[in-house]
Amino acid sequence: MTILIRRGTVIGVTTRHVADVLVRDGLVVDVAERIDAPAGTTVIEAEGCWVGPGLVDLHAHLREPGREEAETIESGARAGAVGGYSAVVAMPNTEPALDNVALVSYVLERGARSVVDVAVAGAITQGRRGELLAPMGEMARLGVRLFTDDGDGVQSASVMRRALEYAKPLGVRLAQHCEEASLVDGGSMNEGPLSGRLGLLGRAALAEEVMVLRDLALVRLTGSPLHFLHLSTRRSLDLVAAARAEGLPVTCEVAPHHFTLDEGSCATYDPTFKVHPPLRSVDDVAAVRDALINAGCDAVASDHAPHAPELKDLAFDEAPAGMLGLEHTASLTLEGLGGVDASPQRFFDLLSRGPARIAQLRRADERTTLSGHGGEVSVGEDANLVLFDPAARWRVDARRLQSRARNTPYDGRELLGRVRATIVRGRLVVNDNELV
Ligand SMILES: [Zn+2]
Repeated sequence: MTILIRRGTVIGVTTRHVADVLVRDGLVVDVAERIDAPAGTTVIEAEGCWVGPGLVDLHAHLREPGREEAETIESGARAGAVGGYSAVVAMPNTEPALDNVALVSYVLERGARSVVDVAVAGAITQGRRGELLAPMGEMARLGVRLFTDDGDGVQSASVMRRALEYAKPLGVRLAQHCEEASLVDGGSMNEGPLSGRLGLLGRAALAEEVMVLRDLALVRLTGSPLHFLHLSTRRSLDLVAAARAEGLPVTCEVAPHHFTLDEGSCATYDPTFKVHPPLRSVDDVAAVRDALINAGCDAVASDHAPHAPELKDLAFDEAPAGMLGLEHTASLTLEGLGGVDASPQRFFDLLSRGPARIAQLRRADERTTLSGHGGEVSVGEDANLVLFDPAARWRVDARRLQSRARNTPYDGRELLGRVRATIVRGRLVVNDNELV
């Protein structure tokens, strides 16, 4: 397949310029002021669109195996493609958990047949129970580069210490869901005056910050790299910023709901707004937004968490936590970065280059058939690209999502900035906001 992207604004690490981009046989083969379309070329008029590396999601719950009524690898990959992603990392809190070679292979094989590249995060501990380490070395040989018990944090400091020591020589990175269990027990929203008024048990900001602090001490001890998932409080972000200034090998992500929604949404008692870590105070939301703009985080991750409708129909304190993300994270990130004033370089740093570096997806990986992501739009690179129109306005319609689930808190919301086209391994998979 040959594709010519005409007159788009190509976004480099530090540059932007209007150019034509030619894609053939899975690669970017030309970037120039003016390229004539060879016969049989699919031409995409991209005037006004940003042309950058395909987005990379560090944090998608694809639910397969075990919860296929909520999502499958295939439907999650389609949601990702519409959202501008060329690669998504599948989280291991499936049923059973992705804690061994057979299950990782299963997801990689299903992923290889889907519309985007699907990488796998393996579990740190067997069954995500936080007790015995999973065979990370065996999973690493299949190309797994991230390990996490996400859904829960590893509660035992001694288990986490051993996991970091084990991971270091493997060249892989652990990722932590920071919530100290004894401080969130039974809670369903942010702890504070509002949770008291609503009569809902709270999940304290302290629960997140205590685990961030503990893990920073373990990183200092072991020298092993660690990625903090979905940080949501001002103090957590300050702790990680200080650790980075000290030179510790830590990275962090934020999720779109933590910079576009606050705890006030929980006053509706609508479980669509229930998520872990919970929607926080107005001040925490301001801090997350600040981190987004001012390099206080390395990535925006969707934390795409589909649930079957009957589960999200339960009462707030009984419903499962999590909300959809893949199909609107790019637009929400643009909003978080200031909308029309957003820096396109920062947009691609947060949504593509940063996450590709953290997940080690920068280069093609033969063991997994994954191609290279998060690079420059330049000759010789794997053609994983997105066309994003920063001026387009659209309205989220939960009924029209590619995800099997409908639990988006943004249903009906008008968003600025829309994915026009997604190219994965040189194939046009989304054009004019629709799957091809
Ligand atoms: Zn999590």
